[in-house]
Amino acid sequence: MKELQQYRGRRVVVLGLARSGAAAAKLFQGAGAIVTVNDQKPREQCPEASELEALGISVVCGGHPADLVTRETALLVKNPGIPYSADPVVQAERLGVEVVTEVEVAGRISPAPIIGITGSNGKTTTTTLTGVLLEAAGLSPIVAGNIGRPLCEAAQEISGTGWLVAELSSFQLKGTVDFRPRVACLLNVAETHLDYHGTMEDYVVSKSKLFENQSAADVAIYNADDETCLRLSETMSGRKFPFSLTKRLAAGVFVEPPYPSVKPEGDETDEPRWIVHRQGDGEDAKRLLPVSELGIPGRHNTANALAAVAIALSAGAEPSSLAEPLRRFRGVEHRLEYVGQIREVGYYNDSKATNPMASTMSILSLPAPLILIAGGLDRGSDYMELLPVFRDRLKGIVVLGETREKIRKVAEAAGLTAIKTVEPEGDAEATLRRAVEEAAGMAEPGDTVLLSPACASWDMFPSYEVRGRMFKQSAHTL
Ligand code: ADP
Repeated sequence: MKELQQYRGRRVVVLGLARSGAAAAKLFQGAGAIVTVNDQKPREQCPEASELEALGISVVCGGHPADLVTRETALLVKNPGIPYSADPVVQAERLGVEVVTEVEVAGRISPAPIIGITGSNGKTTTTTLTGVLLEAAGLSPIVAGNIGRPLCEAAQEISGTGWLVAELSSFQLKGTVDFRPRVACLLNVAETHLDYHGTMEDYVVSKSKLFENQSAADVAIYNADDETCLRLSETMSGRKFPFSLTKRLAAGVFVEPPYPSVKPEGDETDEPRWIVHRQGDGEDAKRLLPVSELGIPGRHNTANALAAVAIALSAGAEPSSLAEPLRRFRGVEHRLEYVGQIREVGYYNDSKATNPMASTMSILSLPAPLILIAGGLDRGSDYMELLPVFRDRLKGIVVLGETREKIRKVAEAAGLTAIKTVEPEGDAEATLRRAVEEAAGMAEPGDTVLLSPACASWDMFPSYEVRGRMFKQSAHTL
């Protein structure tokens, strides 16, 4: 907590009153700073306000006052979702006030080393599995960050002998300065979040900030099958320990024999494939577990497992401790989650697939023919990258949400004829229910219905969790 002493008696502004904002406000208040929390939302929508005020924190809701950030402000802690164009952030930057996210604060106070995990897809799965592996290895992890629990709250709880396992979004990383994970992992980079970052370059730069402050004493883990990761790896200063589905690595975690491609196609061999690790050049590759024994389905999930193994080994886990938890781990809700067989049709909930790359991997992971339910918030993508999997794997598609016309066009270009557009009707629940009924109507025994929207949920639903639960509910009550 020494780091925080410099803020005693000084003004700290916390912008955005979500869970991470409330956690940061309490932390600085506890360190003796004069804390103001500000949120654009009206007070009724800020349930944390009263609790913070009771602690002596000043809470301003319903807009950004012009004098919120002044020359006397020592630090602005910004919620990751708030854009850099927001007035108080612009004002802070003009006055030379440091602007950080709560993740940076956590990095400054954590007595434990940090594992930072980022990527466009697979963060939550890999982070959760990493926690499971570290726990099994007796390494006392606490899992936090983008996954739910504020990182600075976890950083106050963890002891120096544990590991703080942090799922990190590009938004969180953009607001870091000195953040230095002992083990950093970049899973993949796909085109996403362009509405926030403006350009792909800004997004990639934010992701690469995870590695920026590392030295040779740290470990840099990346996906050796991903071109952007490979390019970024050239500038990484930590000890490189990549993972790959398709390459035998001089050092790292990979599959033996390697797959011909990261996509689950063209896998003709019957030879059992093993997850193996090689600590360094010239050393033997050691077997950990047959890929077929992993508890999570799909080749993308094998990649996530390779990443989690690379992280666990880098944190000092005994290789022999990893096989059992890798078998046991069944994945996380809303990620290619098996819902059940309903009238001999299989239903899968992949509501967390919020971009085309994620949906592509899920579509490829399930046996064809599939009936897909897709569409949601429009973030400016044209979805054309979905065309090949639509053509090769889909029997029918139901589109809904803001992007319904765009995705319909891709389906038409892919030559699909069974296409249904669900126009908004009543509330979101009714619209999704209609989509599930349309999909069920297209399905025959033996088919699979998959909700994998390729889009975020906020055009219709408060969250992807709500969307996923409504889908499950609709399927179960068909
Ligand atoms: P994130 O936290 O990055 O959103 P999740 O683990 O929650 O990632 O998975 C979200 C979705 O992304 C899954 O439903 C799946 O469709 C897809 N996905 C997961 N891992 C990968 C991966 N390694 N590569 C591509 N897509 C993936």
